[in-house]
Amino acid sequence: MNALQFDFTIPRYLLSKTIGRFIPTVFWNNHISCLQWRKIHEPTLPNEDWVKVKVKYGGICGSDMNLLYLHDSPSTSPFVSFPFTIGHEAVGQIDEVGSNVDRLSKGQRVVINPVLSCESRDMEPCPACMRGDQSLCINKNKGSIQPGLLIGACHNTGGSWGQYLVAHKSQIKPLPDEVDDLNGVLVEPFSCALHAVLRNPPSPNDNVLIIGGGLIGLSVLVALRALDITCSITMLVKYSFQGEAAKSYGADHIVYLDKSYVGETARVLNAEVLRPVIGDEVIQGGADIVYECVGKDKSIKDSLRFTNSGGKVVLLGLASVMEKIDWTAVWLNELTIKGCFAYSFNEFEGENIDTMDIAIELMKRGKVDLSPLITHRFSLADYKLAFQTISKKQKKDVLKVIFDHDKTVGGSA
Ligand SMILES: [Zn+2]
Ligand SMILES: [Zn+2]
Repeated sequence: MNALQFDFTIPRYLLSKTIGRFIPTVFWNNHISCLQWRKIHEPTLPNEDWVKVKVKYGGICGSDMNLLYLHDSPSTSPFVSFPFTIGHEAVGQIDEVGSNVDRLSKGQRVVINPVLSCESRDMEPCPACMRGDQSLCINKNKGSIQPGLLIGACHNTGGSWGQYLVAHKSQIKPLPDEVDDLNGVLVEPFSCALHAVLRNPPSPNDNVLIIGGGLIGLSVLVALRALDITCSITMLVKYSFQGEAAKSYGADHIVYLDKSYVGETARVLNAEVLRPVIGDEVIQGGADIVYECVGKDKSIKDSLRFTNSGGKVVLLGLASVMEKIDWTAVWLNELTIKGCFAYSFNEFEGENIDTMDIAIELMKRGKVDLSPLITHRFSLADYKLAFQTISKKQKKDVLKVIFDHDKTVGGSA
């Protein structure tokens, strides 16, 4: 089968990083880039506790684009094994079932929890896995399969940027009939937002600011509304189509990232803008909780200054090496900065449940429909077109782009 793999070599890394400053398409040029379009064997079951899935849709995540653009911090490299097939967002059908798997059968529609924690690695649960924090597992580089945080970063499992992948039976989530495949492929990214909200829920009277109008920012909004949290929600977004989506999902205020956004954000949050002798405006007051869903220097700076004293910043954007961040607001306003990764178990209606099961349940109840956010689908062979579409966001009204393995050529909404 054909697959898009990531294969790190120092020459490829240095060459594409140097040329990529001027010509971004170099990051998906097969001759130079770490991204490789290859014919590979379908992945095989590591043991009889695993199943093979025929992927229908594979999502393109912001973290995948960070990987392609070589933006990831080298500190993540011990938790991957090269070469690996990219793609951790997947919906598909079970194609093969190991003999130790009893509750699953061939042909079943499923989504996948890609986290490769102790259970998938045939290990005794570590303290994190024992308390239901699989995404914080300390054995992500040990056990019966090669290192990898997730399916889509591990050499043995394949990923959704190839038509077949394998997953441990514990990672498979059957999809009810009420949840279509378009929502199915978004269960994984939506679960990241849902986990962040369930771990850091606002109070009903809180002022909430969401920075970023991409899929994760909008998913935080959808999660807050699906959980019937009646807080006031302001979204800080870049493009008008993001603002329109935010409006349709129930944001109270939408602020566009234009020249007047600082004053406008302060106004809707009932905060005051103060001018220092030199440099950026300082905000007095602000949101009780800020969900930061971009992960860039500017958005991190904004998240710190728009948080009210004693408030909390929840980091969902994948910030890595940041430059020139002014930390004054953190100590002066006694802010709490909370990191967030993937999903695990969360408190929901009095029970401790796997985040992905909560996401599927909210979709099943009709409280969450993210399918309008999938704006583009491409065949895997048209990957260059897919990445070009993502890199020219504004012109194309791009929100979520997925690979459609049933398509042999072309791309469309
Ligand atoms: Zn992702
Ligand atoms: Zn573990």
